Amino acid sequence: MVNFSHLLKSEAYIDGRWCPASSGTSFPVVNPATGVEIAAVADCGPADAERAVQAAYVAFQSWSKETAQARAAKLRRWAQLIADHLEPLALLLTTEQGKPLAEARVEVRSGVDSIEWAADQSRRAFGDIIPPFKQDTQILIMREPVGVVSAITPWNFPSGMITRKVGPALAAGCTIVLKPAEDTPFSALALAVLAEEAGIPPGVLNIVPCSSAAAPAVGSVMTTHPLVRKISFTGSTEVGKILMRQGADTVKRVSMELGGNAPFIVFDSADLDLAVAGAMACKFRNAGQTCVCANRIFVQAGIHDAFVAKLAEKIKALVIGPGDKDGAQIGPLINEQGISKVEEHVSNALGCGAALVCGGKRHAPSSLFYEPTLLTGMSPGMVLFSDETFGPVAGIFKFNDEAEVIRQANDTRFGLASYIYSRDLGQCFRVTAALEYGMVAVNEPILANAAIPFGGKKESGLGREGSAEGFEEFLETKYVLIGGLA
Ligand code: ADP
Repeated sequence: MVNFSHLLKSEAYIDGRWCPASSGTSFPVVNPATGVEIAAVADCGPADAERAVQAAYVAFQSWSKETAQARAAKLRRWAQLIADHLEPLALLLTTEQGKPLAEARVEVRSGVDSIEWAADQSRRAFGDIIPPFKQDTQILIMREPVGVVSAITPWNFPSGMITRKVGPALAAGCTIVLKPAEDTPFSALALAVLAEEAGIPPGVLNIVPCSSAAAPAVGSVMTTHPLVRKISFTGSTEVGKILMRQGADTVKRVSMELGGNAPFIVFDSADLDLAVAGAMACKFRNAGQTCVCANRIFVQAGIHDAFVAKLAEKIKALVIGPGDKDGAQIGPLINEQGISKVEEHVSNALGCGAALVCGGKRHAPSSLFYEPTLLTGMSPGMVLFSDETFGPVAGIFKFNDEAEVIRQANDTRFGLASYIYSRDLGQCFRVTAALEYGMVAVNEPILANAAIPFGGKKESGLGREGSAEGFEEFLETKYVLIGGLA
């Protein structure tokens, strides 16, 4: 029997110490599959955030001066400990977030990969030497860590979003204050337990959990404090804009991974089975609660009916259940607000003329499980067209030609992930070029990996996470001109 009790922490982690909120208050965190409270967690406030920033600033002075090898060694030890605790971490993740255990394991493993990738990259923060523009001088370009980083993360990947930010930040020599989402603080705190065990020094990683009521005040300290040099946020576009505005007065660097509204385009020439399997993986992973999930599924008229028939068969076969039950494929949605949004999108679509093929309601009254749903006859006026559903609802938009679908796919303020299914190579390249998205997957449904630059265009964000580009986000350039060398 897997047991995560040794990793279950309910206090904040500031300056290498586990501590209650300075106000002494806490907030309950529940298992979305059962509604049962897992534990009450320290409800940090501005004073705690202030302490964390100060601790991170002090720690930065020494952490940034360690060699890349020394930092990488500690990060690798952390990654190894995470790998060694894969099962309890995955179970804890499922318990607070709801996703099937198999998906939780993939997420924890991806975190190991993110940290290892960043540790490797830390040795390659190369500078440059530029031919001088004046005699008897040298020009050096140095790469330095940005400084103290404030990170705010969402609930849909409570482990992966932590490692994706903390790994490269620490590898680059930055220190970090992280506020996890109120629905899922435990994975972040468990990772801090292992970071401590790995020998990551006090103040280098600080975790300040807080309730949704306290988030604006804590977030305000994290984004306006003069000692903080960078904000790294993953969450909604609306909150991202608030944080950018808050950071503007002290001109902080920002990385923003915001909302998506992914088009999933299936052309007549697609391999039908591949496209159906892709739509299932892309749409129903994490019960549709990912920012890269297919939101609008566009299917060309010639393949439409066959695609819908096969997709319906697969959707009806999905197993709904608590993530820790064997075979469960669709877990609960995160909270009442999340499931209400899904209900609104479905009722709006049905009210505007969509047809319900399957699903369309809660699995049981007052539970957070929503039946995997297939809607056809979708059209651009519907809410699902313009807004991310974040639930297990596949809405099919029928289209006739390439120009029409490109126009519709781009008709959104978002630009994160997009998907094309086609066996016509010319079409794949044409449509890839025309899509106003930061990421395009062709005949593939899952694109995230530590090695790739993950991020969006338009209101889906700024900057990239993962890859050398993601690592760069935590580095600053220093140009040095040395004269008097005659
Ligand atoms: P979602 O819709 O996915 O819940 P949010 O953008 O609301 O996305 O939340 C993402 C993260 O941002 C969470 O950690 C949440 O607590 C935090 N957050 C929400 N509002 C604020 C705010 N005003 N200031 C700082 N953090 C915030």
